[in-house]
Amino acid sequence: MIRKKRTEITIETDRLVIISNSSSLNKHCLACGAEEATMLTIDEAAAMADASPAAVRLWIKANRLHFVEPIQGTILICFNSLDASLPELRASASEAGRRLLSPPSTEGI
Ligand SMILES: [Zn+2]
Repeated sequence: MIRKKRTEITIETDRLVIISNSSSLNKHCLACGAEEATMLTIDEAAAMADASPAAVRLWIKANRLHFVEPIQGTILICFNSLDASLPELRASASEAGRRLLSPPSTEGI
């Protein structure tokens, strides 16, 4: 008689994002009027939103995030706009992930 042994492994993860002041800046945000808005790099904003830098760039293009471009090619994102939109952005990011993971639709075939 063969006895099978089953082992279940549960992994819980937590994510803590610490942003040092070395790369973050406080700048005036014209969009929300904050004089000293904390500005984040695209990578920092992506880490906070648990999304990819590409998704953050799409949100910027969709005018969902405030940003400044102090130096050509360098984009800094207003933390206020990210914080206000975070639940919605996370939902859209996970929805996009589900669409990528779900099998192609067979409707209309
Ligand atoms: Zn702002």
